[in-house]
Amino acid sequence: MHDCLILGGGPAGLAAALYASRYGLDACLLDELYLGGQIVNAAEVENYPGYADPVSGGDLADYMEKQTRLHTSQIFFDAAKGVDLLSAVKTVKTSSKVYEAKTVIIAMGQNPRSLGVEREKEFMSRGVSYCATCDGNFFKGKDVAVAGGGNTALSEAAFLARICKSVSVIHRRNEFRAAKAEVEKARKLPNVKFILESQVTALLGKDYLEGIEISGPESFTLPVEALFIAVGAIPKTELFKGLLNLDPQGFIITDENMETGIPGVYAAGDIRKKSLRQVVTAVADGAIAAHSAMEYCTGLA
Ligand code: NAP
Repeated sequence: MHDCLILGGGPAGLAAALYASRYGLDACLLDELYLGGQIVNAAEVENYPGYADPVSGGDLADYMEKQTRLHTSQIFFDAAKGVDLLSAVKTVKTSSKVYEAKTVIIAMGQNPRSLGVEREKEFMSRGVSYCATCDGNFFKGKDVAVAGGGNTALSEAAFLARICKSVSVIHRRNEFRAAKAEVEKARKLPNVKFILESQVTALLGKDYLEGIEISGPESFTLPVEALFIAVGAIPKTELFKGLLNLDPQGFIITDENMETGIPGVYAAGDIRKKSLRQVVTAVADGAIAAHSAMEYCTGLA
């Protein structure tokens, strides 16, 4: 049995594993696919303290993984399919194994939200993408669009502007949810155009995306070969419905010690209800959750 089982290998999970191991706990981290979480998709991270020169999200994730692996070798790629968190011995089932632990830290993050426009699934990998750093290079020198007005949309637009001929940012309001610095950066780029108070209402094309229909103050067809959808994310809390306290959007409600209400069960990072979802707040959550797990395991809690 592990002292601490961490579900999710993004910044919150990696920080939790690092801190838990350094507290002397037997810590084990499970992730479905890869380590680093959503930052792996960020072309540049400019606001993580300690990096005066922008660092790529992929590099930052690699550094975090390397640092965590110095302290624990128990990092496995295995997806949690079922949980029993109420007993003193908590169990997490995957397709191949049952993991047992005294404490569990849930740091599974979120999945990109779909735009909900017709043919969105049909055009996936055929022009529709949820990750500019993953797919941007396929559209070198082409006209593309980004849907959304948050930090992801604006930073993806700035990244795509370096590769693509033109980038149209389509946002449903005339004010941005993104930080002012991200908006200003995108505004300065000559090949980025803003189409505000507008929505993408149809995806056009035969086998591959050829254009999008836009409805707003002006309704028109925009010829683009790619649409990057960046309209927020949905927490991966399916497994915890009916078990943990979730807010109406599905985020896990915790206290400031990352406690979920079930003794020995904590949540950290983007999966948790919070006001600022950033790498810096995710790693802080992970460290606090590991501290709470240590206090629980050693009887200090
Ligand atoms: P977000 O902040 O939730 O923004 C989502 C955007 O999509 C909003 O502008 C929203 O419009 C729009 N939207 C939502 N549903 C829509 C729909 N059905 N149709 C059209 N537009 C829709 O999501 P995010 O940009 O992915 O960021 C997620 C979190 O990660 C945030 O906390 C963000 O700060 C953080 N993040 C930070 C950085 C950074 O610091 N560099 C980079 C990326 C992400 P409204 O504004 O009208 O609601």
